Amino acid sequence: MTAPIVRTRAELREMAQLWRRAGETIGVVPTMGALHDGHLSLVARAKEMSDRVIVTIFVNPKQFNNPEDLENYPRTEHEDARKLERFAVDAIYVPDGAQMYPDGFATTVRVEGLTDVLCGAHRAGHFDGVATVVTKLFTQSSADLAFFGEKDFQQLQVVRRMARDLDLGVDVVGCPTIREIDGLAMSSRNLLLSDQARSRASALFDVMEDMGEALQSGQAMDALLPAAQARLAAAGFGDIDYLELRTNDTLRLIHRAEAPARLFAAAWMAGVRLIDNIDVPAVT
Ligand code: AMP
Repeated sequence: MTAPIVRTRAELREMAQLWRRAGETIGVVPTMGALHDGHLSLVARAKEMSDRVIVTIFVNPKQFNNPEDLENYPRTEHEDARKLERFAVDAIYVPDGAQMYPDGFATTVRVEGLTDVLCGAHRAGHFDGVATVVTKLFTQSSADLAFFGEKDFQQLQVVRRMARDLDLGVDVVGCPTIREIDGLAMSSRNLLLSDQARSRASALFDVMEDMGEALQSGQAMDALLPAAQARLAAAGFGDIDYLELRTNDTLRLIHRAEAPARLFAAAWMAGVRLIDNIDVPAVT
C-alpha cells in the first residue's frame, strides 16, 4: 500500500492531531532518504511499537558542514516510497527547505558536552543542525516515540539528552546497526563508493572487531592503535578522523574496557567519510 506523501507541516499536524485525538500512539522515523535495510529495520521496530508510523525524509542542510557533501548526498524519493510500501506506514513526510526553515528562521538547539567530541569535533555545527531539525520533526509530528540507529551512536545519545532536557515527551528508541554481509555498516554514503573502494571498506569493521576482542582480553588502546592504523592504511583508508574507546553514556574517553563502552571510528575511503561503532562490554 502506498503511504500518503505529506509535504507541508500543516498537513502533517492535522493528520497527527486526528490520531492523537483517537488515542493512538505515533512513532516517527527521521531519515535523510536513500533508504536501505538499516533504515527499514527502524521502520519495522516503529510499526511494532506504535499505532501510527511517520517516516520523514529531509536532507537537512543545517547538519552538513561541507556544501559538496550536501550536493552529492543521494536523493531517491521515488525508490524510497516504493521500499516503504510493504510496511504500510501511515505517512511519509517530505518537507522542503522552506517548510523547515522559513524566511527569518533564527533558532538553534545546541546540546552541550556530548557534542564536543567524535563527529562533533570534526564537523563544525553538525549536531546543532541535527538537534534543531529533530526538535522540529518531533513537534511537527506530535510523536510519542522516535527511532534512531546505533550506527550513529553519538547522534542517538545527543537526541536522547535533548528530548529529556527539553521535556519533548518523546521516548527515543535505539536500534542495532544493520550490516552488509561483509560487515560494513549500511549507510546511504556507501552508494558513493566505487566497487573497488566498496570492497575495501569492510576492513573498517574487521579492524574494529579485532580491537574489540583485544580490549575484552584486557589490552589497552595504546597497544592496539599502531597495528589498527596500519591495517586501515593498507586497506586503502586515508585520514582517520578518530578511532577511540568511549563510555556509552557520557562518551568519556577511556583506554581500557573498564566501563560499558563503545569503540568509535570515522575514516575516509576514496573521499567518502565512513563512521562505525561497536559495543565493548566492561571487562569484569
Ligand atoms: P540517515 O538517513 O543517515 O540520517 O539515518 C536515518 C536513521 O537511520 C538514523 O537514526 C540512523 O542512525 C539510522 N541508520 C542509518 N544506517 C543504519 C544502519 N546501518 N543500521 C541501523 N540504523 C541505521
